[in-house]
Amino acid sequence: MGLFDKLATIAQGRAALEELGIDPFNVEIEEILSPTEARINGRETLLAGTNNYLGLTFDPRCIEAACTATHAEGTGTTGSRMANGTFSGHRALERELAAFYGYASAIVFSTGFVANLGAISTLTGPGDLILLDADSHASIYDGCRMSGADIIRFRHNNAADLEKRLRRLGERTKDALVIIEGIYSMLGDRAPLAEIVALKKQYGFWLMVDEAHSLGVLGKKGRGLVEEAGCLDQVDFIVGTFSKSLGTIGGFCVSNHPELDLVRYASRSYVFTASPSPATIASVRQALRLLEAGTDLRDRLWANARQLYEGLGKLGFRLGPEPTPVVAVYMGSKEETLLAWKWMLDQGVYVNLVLPPAAPDGTSLLRCSVGAAHTPEQIDVIIEAFATLKTVGTLPRAV
Ligand code: PMP
Repeated sequence: MGLFDKLATIAQGRAALEELGIDPFNVEIEEILSPTEARINGRETLLAGTNNYLGLTFDPRCIEAACTATHAEGTGTTGSRMANGTFSGHRALERELAAFYGYASAIVFSTGFVANLGAISTLTGPGDLILLDADSHASIYDGCRMSGADIIRFRHNNAADLEKRLRRLGERTKDALVIIEGIYSMLGDRAPLAEIVALKKQYGFWLMVDEAHSLGVLGKKGRGLVEEAGCLDQVDFIVGTFSKSLGTIGGFCVSNHPELDLVRYASRSYVFTASPSPATIASVRQALRLLEAGTDLRDRLWANARQLYEGLGKLGFRLGPEPTPVVAVYMGSKEETLLAWKWMLDQGVYVNLVLPPAAPDGTSLLRCSVGAAHTPEQIDVIIEAFATLKTVGTLPRAV
């Protein structure tokens, strides 16, 4: 065994799942039918656990842009942004992202994950200090670790806890980096941005907001929590992804500090990986235009989010703290949650299974997410499935 010894607990966990007849982390989408439907296990399934918030994955304008770019520029760049992988489209997208936020500078990365790795680990280093929300995404944690900076976690969405820690740090807070998210991916709750911005004024730290789940979702123009809270001029860095509301793949960091541009020269996850393909860049640029103009898309998204949150709330489920497109449903034990997840899939509804440690505070969740492309009838199907789940009692252990 040797190297594989350390994976023994994973092997045990997988064997336990096999015993239950469940393989939740290897779901195969056999055919993708639309932004909201797929064939899974031979069955037409309603997708209630994607990040397709604006439903743009099948938008004909985005598909057309991707096809045109592929014909004109080929399937890939075959190189790093730093070498042969910066085409005019990459540069244009950076200008468009900067203009979208009204900021001085933007960098496009190959994914949101590596945007966080690159930005955080380049902006901070040994001797620096980072304060991050305890529920931060893995890419934020990894970026912090890579930086070699001192890392302090504050309690999730708890500005008072952040302040308690800041008070102890004295002069060090001035150059500290505080990292939060717009909407948190597991519980769907917004960060208390106005309170944190008030602390920034008092303590003078730098502030980074990861808007992965809030880009296109919050704010009149879709610029995220920072826009919704009226704080565009108070935040130092916004990180985001193209893989959710924009329906493709890639990531970015924007800032009103023109010096952000220097980050690209020192960020290993920018320099040493291939740049996004022409198709990706072209469809992101098209999707960004739709996102900016897309108040009707956002209206539909929010109507769906509220319908699901209210419907599940009426059924008596304990949910995440506020209605957003991410609706977390607290379940019982890990095993009950696993069985419930499988039962939902067998009914033709795909939701995300979230087990500890991915779920906060040792809880187990069925995480639902909705998009603008869902119809009200589809939202009713999700609610109906949860209603039936409540009445099923003991769930079958094996398929
Ligand atoms: N940040 C957050 C908060 C996320 O939820 C995610 C993706 N789940 C990422 C970053 C990484 O984005 P990407 O999929 O583009 O790598």
